[in-house]
Amino acid sequence: MHCPFCGAHDTKVTDSRLVVEGDQVRRRRQCTACGERFTTYETAELVMPRVIKTDGSRESFDEAKLRAGMLRALEKRPVSAESMEAAVERIRQRLRARGEREIQARDIGEEVMQALKRLDQVAYIRFASVYRRFQDLDEFRAEIDRLAQEPHFPPHDD
Ligand SMILES: [Zn+2]
Repeated sequence: MHCPFCGAHDTKVTDSRLVVEGDQVRRRRQCTACGERFTTYETAELVMPRVIKTDGSRESFDEAKLRAGMLRALEKRPVSAESMEAAVERIRQRLRARGEREIQARDIGEEVMQALKRLDQVAYIRFASVYRRFQDLDEFRAEIDRLAQEPHFPPHDD
């Protein structure tokens, strides 16, 4: 770790506490050459669980795919990029927090549905209709009715 002030290589960690912020670990350091103190942010080596697909094959967790699916559902909906990114991060954290080495693909789908439900009900219905493969209008209507009855669902104001 270089000192950003004098370029010396020899710096020490002055605060051994790990402060984890999202995927980042914050550390306080001090340069042993010039004595300046600074903070570093390091990306924690957080490995996502592997994904078990419905056919039983495994693949690595693909965040781009997750984001693409959410963006498709959120197309032209009044949801900011920040809210969407926060939702992606929350999903990653929730999946990691399970502490499993492997997770079912459908568990990811369920997490995405829960996240979309909080963000935007139209996006949620779009995603659910594809993901749950609604067969007909009745299934579609049943899901919308269920949604309307959920007491915690925030009212939409546009
Ligand atoms: Zn220095």
